Amino acid sequence: MTTRQTCLDRDSADPLGGVRERFSLPDGAIYLDGNSLGALTYAAAARVGETTGQQWGRDLISSWNSHGWIRLPQQVGGKIARLIGAGADEVIAADSVSVNLFKLAAAAVRAQGPDRKTVIIERGDFPTDLYILQGLAEVMPGIDLRVVEPGGFEAALDDRTAVVLLSHVHYRTGMVRDMAAQGAAVRAAGALSLWDLSHSAGVLDIGLNRDGADMAAGCGYKYLNGGPGAPAYLFVAKRHQATLRNPLSGWMGHARPFDFVDNYQPAPGMDRWLCGTPPILSLTALDAALDAFDGVDMGQARIKAGALGDLFIERVEARCAAHGLALVGPREAAARGGQVSFAHPEGWAVMQNLIARGVIGDFRRPDVIRFGFAPLYVRHVDVWDAVETLGDILDSESWRDERFQTVSAVT
Ligand SMILES: *Cc1c(COP(=O)(O)O)cnc(C)c1O
Repeated sequence: MTTRQTCLDRDSADPLGGVRERFSLPDGAIYLDGNSLGALTYAAAARVGETTGQQWGRDLISSWNSHGWIRLPQQVGGKIARLIGAGADEVIAADSVSVNLFKLAAAAVRAQGPDRKTVIIERGDFPTDLYILQGLAEVMPGIDLRVVEPGGFEAALDDRTAVVLLSHVHYRTGMVRDMAAQGAAVRAAGALSLWDLSHSAGVLDIGLNRDGADMAAGCGYKYLNGGPGAPAYLFVAKRHQATLRNPLSGWMGHARPFDFVDNYQPAPGMDRWLCGTPPILSLTALDAALDAFDGVDMGQARIKAGALGDLFIERVEARCAAHGLALVGPREAAARGGQVSFAHPEGWAVMQNLIARGVIGDFRRPDVIRFGFAPLYVRHVDVWDAVETLGDILDSESWRDERFQTVSAVT
């Protein structure tokens, strides 16, 4: 039988327990939404102050050189590389996930030549992934976009497939894909795999090179804690770097941006994936935030996230059994990312009530309440307390209160 005390004991024995001290968390809040917006690190807060005050404010434009601003995209890419099993020269921070998916998918289709024009994605994937491919199909002649049923991409592969876009962890269900096996299927068909790591980087022990991934992009503001709208990143396996070309051929991706010549020539390596001037304030926050992963073994992070999710499921099913919550997505930790979702017909109001009581998760239409277990700062006792609050809300039906019914712009 798990008790609150067992949770406290597990926290005391947690090898990642001390990492929480790197985060500035509001008193009294239980933050289970690090999969949407990661928490603030003390390091990021301090660094933004330093970058504005001592660098921008004092050293002005010379900071591009003297404070290394110009190399920040590569530096941040190098830190992310360790978390996703890539080489430091295979990752660069740039743009948003949406823009990076566009760049990579377009590059892949172009590189695959005239006989491979099919792009595959599964229905129900994260909206931007679908929308970006729809937009790409409108501007790139000949693309055949196939939006297949969930779980159906392998059956759709053929000798016309150029690229397959796959979410490593599904944003709604938390389901994790077998990157090695599914990537191998894509490769066997002669197509390229493009992985969206937004919901897996920073929580799973990803091995892009171990698993043979071709390309990837992911988010800087979720488990990587880079702050609202933090730059995203992208990965191109070394073997493809010379052949794939960025269609957004901006000056920062030029081989010699400060030569100011008229004709575009792509930079070697990952630098070509830059487009315009990097957002230094955001990048510097992400750079500092990534230091929260110093000394963190991603295998351990995954185990902890899985254990927190298991505990949450066990407690919800024990404490809230009478209230019609249905688990969405996998039950086994091995098949999940860092989040657990439950469906409830009044999910929106229940989540608003939880947030008002200091338990912060989020809601995804039509009826899913979603809880993220960021292994760097969520404790077992937080899970216990969150479920007690949830049980209380459901028992008392306090979610029926009118103030929990209004739907906001950001859910
Ligand atoms: C969060 C998320 C994104 C975010 O895209 P942006 O363009 O950076 O806003 C993209 N894909 C997935 C799967 C996500 O979870």
